[in-house]
Amino acid sequence: MTPKTLLFLFLTLFAGFHKSVAQTERPKLVVGIVVDQMRWDYLYRYENLYGDDGFKRLLGKGFNCQQTFINYLPSFTAAGHAGIYTGSVPAFNGIVANDWFDRNSGRAWYCAEDTTVQAVGGSDKAGQMSPRNLRATTITDELRLATNFRSKVIGLSIKDRGAIFPAGHTANAAFWYDSYTGNFITSSYYRKDLPKWLVAFNQRKIGDSLMRQGWQTLLPMSAYQESTADDNPYEGRFSWEEKPVFPHHTGIAANRAEQSTIRYTPFANTLLRQLAEDCIQGEALGKDSTTDFLTVSFSATDYVGHQFGPNAIETEDTYLRLDRELAQFLSFLDKTVGQGNYLIFLTADHGAAHNALFMQDHHIPAQSVFIEDIKHELNQYLLVKYQDSNLVQSLYNYQVFLNNKTIAAKKIDRTNLLDDIQLWLENQQGVTAVYNLENGDVLRAPKAIQDMITNGYYRQRCGSLQIILDPQWYSGYGQTGTTHGNWNPYDTHIPLIWYGWHIPAGETYERINMTDIAATLAAMLHIQMPNACVGKVILPLLSSAPEEK
Ligand code: ZN
Ligand code: ZN
Ligand code: ZN
Repeated sequence: MTPKTLLFLFLTLFAGFHKSVAQTERPKLVVGIVVDQMRWDYLYRYENLYGDDGFKRLLGKGFNCQQTFINYLPSFTAAGHAGIYTGSVPAFNGIVANDWFDRNSGRAWYCAEDTTVQAVGGSDKAGQMSPRNLRATTITDELRLATNFRSKVIGLSIKDRGAIFPAGHTANAAFWYDSYTGNFITSSYYRKDLPKWLVAFNQRKIGDSLMRQGWQTLLPMSAYQESTADDNPYEGRFSWEEKPVFPHHTGIAANRAEQSTIRYTPFANTLLRQLAEDCIQGEALGKDSTTDFLTVSFSATDYVGHQFGPNAIETEDTYLRLDRELAQFLSFLDKTVGQGNYLIFLTADHGAAHNALFMQDHHIPAQSVFIEDIKHELNQYLLVKYQDSNLVQSLYNYQVFLNNKTIAAKKIDRTNLLDDIQLWLENQQGVTAVYNLENGDVLRAPKAIQDMITNGYYRQRCGSLQIILDPQWYSGYGQTGTTHGNWNPYDTHIPLIWYGWHIPAGETYERINMTDIAATLAAMLHIQMPNACVGKVILPLLSSAPEEK
């Protein structure tokens, strides 16, 4: 063998070796879709009226994790979005609710507030926002870190918190809706100006045009078989209405320049879907060899749910319309990114309870309570023994926040005070149990909720006692509509469907936690898990994937 042949052999072997170890593949684009307040059962409840190309396309060709649950308390929007994208729980990521009382500063905080930044493209009230209060990295942060920031990450939602927490700390941008101007905006945390495509999008005033069309049912009224008749006592009205019935003349809000009202209509979802498409095009997402990540959180479902409740034609109609938006969005992704090149997951930040009156009328124990009333009574009770009528500062987030300054100034025995409050609360109608979060009391709680309480406790931002209400009891602002926030399956059983890149058709009934989503994404993308991730990889999804070639 001559040296030349040797060299030839060596080179062919070397080349062959390189070929046999395939480069790790990643999708061109990941799209995380969160449907705010989507109960798991909505996948099936409205199935008959869904088209073939929206939810049914995802269900038919995607992988359905049927038993996915939130594994912390409370089940609120900010905690949900943070939980999905950090793969972690409030105890570590710090997003314990939408608002909280900060123990150090002694004042109320909004989850995404940040007074050190300015609004970009809109009003300061809506724009002084950032992910600064989030303590952990997101899966989107990890993608940015893994690709040395070549991956583009953008978060979109009507709600600021629905755009900001999914996009993480290192996002290229997050854009959300400004209820004062009707524009999508950002903050100086991300950039100094709006991108050209977004300026153009805002100038088209699509929201106003949609609202002026008025909200009629998508299908003939007789098609809506899954809901209570339109005119009923369980639904909230728009300000200009006498009855909560179709057609809702939403043009009135547009004419009055009430830019916030669109949130309570399915038009906010239409607007967001169009924004997502313009964003993908304007930012050239999924175009080059580096994986990009777009987060899209549909919020109208939450506002409509709060106003009308799960058994309303308005809610049914909102999901039928969202189904059509999804169909359009998927077909857009096929055209621009290409089938098989994008990976989608669709989930929810929480579900919702049925309206309490509606349940009572059907003999199911239920109650909407105005928790501030309880606070007043509680403080009056404490006045007798402690000579102070303001010892309980708040009953935020189903927790008791004490007035720590007064307690210190008056040298009140904290342990005794907490015991007294706990006993009083536990004797109230509709209260299942109260747990002291400052000692080992939580160990008394049934296994099913023990971890949820512990996972939700981040000391600086949490109260001292956790209140667990009876099933179907909730802290609401009135008798109409509904809310969420509790441990029960209607609030914590969420949809989770994977679709697209390397996803086989299938389903699993294994119990999965919300925090497993980010862990699974990290495995699929071959990147590091978020830095406080407590989730595990969803094995049935990955092990049933087709052999890679
Ligand atoms: Zn929500
Ligand atoms: Zn109605
Ligand atoms: Zn909500």
